[in-house]
Amino acid sequence: MATIAFIGLGNMGNPMAANLVKAGHSVQGFDLITENLETAASNGVTVMANADAAVKDAEIVITMLPAGKHVLSVYADIAPKAASNALFIDCSTIDVETARKAHAIAAEHDLFSIDAPVSGGVGGAEAGTLTFMAGGSADAFAKANPILEPMAGRVVHCGNGGAGQAAKICNNMILGISMIGVGEAFVLAEKLGLSHQALFDVASTSSGQCWSLTTYCPVPGPVPASPANRDYKPGFAAGLMLKDLRLAQEAAQGAGAATPLGAEATQLYALFNAMGHEDTDFSGIINFLRGKET
Ligand code: NAD
Repeated sequence: MATIAFIGLGNMGNPMAANLVKAGHSVQGFDLITENLETAASNGVTVMANADAAVKDAEIVITMLPAGKHVLSVYADIAPKAASNALFIDCSTIDVETARKAHAIAAEHDLFSIDAPVSGGVGGAEAGTLTFMAGGSADAFAKANPILEPMAGRVVHCGNGGAGQAAKICNNMILGISMIGVGEAFVLAEKLGLSHQALFDVASTSSGQCWSLTTYCPVPGPVPASPANRDYKPGFAAGLMLKDLRLAQEAAQGAGAATPLGAEATQLYALFNAMGHEDTDFSGIINFLRGKET
């Protein structure tokens, strides 16, 4: 069993750290928010006074932070203090370029590193069923795989440093676009007098089938577990969808890829967020498409 530093014990980090404790690892945690540290302590995490103390003697350092600037600042701070040959695993969702800079900081200090953003949300973090998309060397991935296992349903090695973040933003760009497409289809069906259930029954077994329809159906009824059945309580908040779509747009511009539907989805989610829906599930955009604010 390993000594693991866990930095960033928020909505995702805390349940992930709790699963590492349950698997028998010794977890040394740090966060800037006292309430999050209290939750961590109640889950069996040893709370440390700062990030430096958390990484001391740790073979593995996991970060789960809001954005790229937080990751770079924490890496610059802790990499010089980490144990030699430690493995850094960044699970935050950040842009590809910043992920590569974080790998470079780790390499300067002879540390192993992978970017390993996740899909599955808070529910997946609690259940230990997250999908991890990993980028980094084969050696770093081999070290990381058994550590990720108690938090994961699936771990995919996507390629070299930054490839995990690339996979994450490409996947979430598909998701943002497809949710708008499914929402538009239901709004059109309503105008044409077609019931939600009839459209669902046809499209879910036809060529319109997709995750946004069959798992996360944006109208109440056809998929009882979807957020539409609980007044669009997330789930996956529209604020996080907008963050990921913007990361995809930045990456597309940097790489010279044409992503016109990704750009349009970013605009629509920006408007939806600006109307005060950052904390609404992203499937709630169907109400915006209907021209309703709620
Ligand atoms: P969160 O805001 O709940 O947690 C982030 C934590 O990082 C906070 O507790 C904050 O205090 C802490 N933090 C910030 N700077 C710090 C520092 N310098 N030192 C120590 N702690 C610091 O966010 P979250 O929902 O847990 O998301 C974390 C990451 O996971 C984000 O990059 C997000 O995009 C990604 N993600 C979230 C979800 C989701 O459903 N919430 C799903 C997939 C991916």
